[in-house]
Amino acid sequence: NVEQPLLKIDNLHVYYGGIHALKGISLEVYKNKIVSLIGANGAGKSTTLRTISGLVRSRTGTIKLKDNLIGDLPTHRIVEMGIAMVPEGRRIFPNLTVMENLILGCYIRKDMVQIKNDMDWIFSIFPRLKERTWQKGGTLSGGEQQMLAVGRALMSRPQLLMMDEPSLGLAPLLVKEIFQIIKKINQEGATILLIEQNARAALEISDFAYVMETGKITTSGEGKSLLFDEKVRKAYLGED
Ligand code: ATP
Repeated sequence: NVEQPLLKIDNLHVYYGGIHALKGISLEVYKNKIVSLIGANGAGKSTTLRTISGLVRSRTGTIKLKDNLIGDLPTHRIVEMGIAMVPEGRRIFPNLTVMENLILGCYIRKDMVQIKNDMDWIFSIFPRLKERTWQKGGTLSGGEQQMLAVGRALMSRPQLLMMDEPSLGLAPLLVKEIFQIIKKINQEGATILLIEQNARAALEISDFAYVMETGKITTSGEGKSLLFDEKVRKAYLGED
């Protein structure tokens, strides 16, 4: 591929005190793609996203957004440069309305007309949020809160949208819906880096995926081809 990756991580090592959580992670995300990280609990998937966001610092290694090294920047600068994250567990503001939660997602922007356009765009993706514009976030159902968390991240029109377990705790029908929405957001131009326990659904919509085991990347490939990888099928797709 002659094109430059949007995000490029090289040889990242992260420690929590004495715990060596990331042991030399390297990965690339190209523009307009969906890339997934899959792996067992504790493999280091969340740590990888948290390090890209600047919430956790790496001891060695580099993180590059296009031509910019971002590994030493504070989180708010990384957000301004175009990386947004939907954290695990739908951290929305329960006492603020849907509208207020969305407006907080674009605090880095000033142009009111553009904000209005983006809000219309979010409501076209999530008509259910539109019906609930004035409802308090905390009174939304779990699935609606997840949609609000995704909508809020999209309000910053990020170059890269990172999502940590968007389907966690959702009923099966909603899980299906959230994956369709991820696909739709991607088709409308967003680049996505996704963590999922639901490996099959993630691989089905992913252009590329990385499998993590105890702090290392052990396998990678096109999403669809990993669906047929024997090791991946046994370990992550529940087949024998
Ligand atoms: P899960 O799917 O369970 O969220 P994960 O792949 O996202 O797992 P991480 O949350 O990145 O895994 O955790 C990687 C390792 O780092 C684990 O062994 C975990 O216990 C450890 N770890 C994560 N956060 C901390 C922390 N704040 N302090 C100490 N150890 C941590």
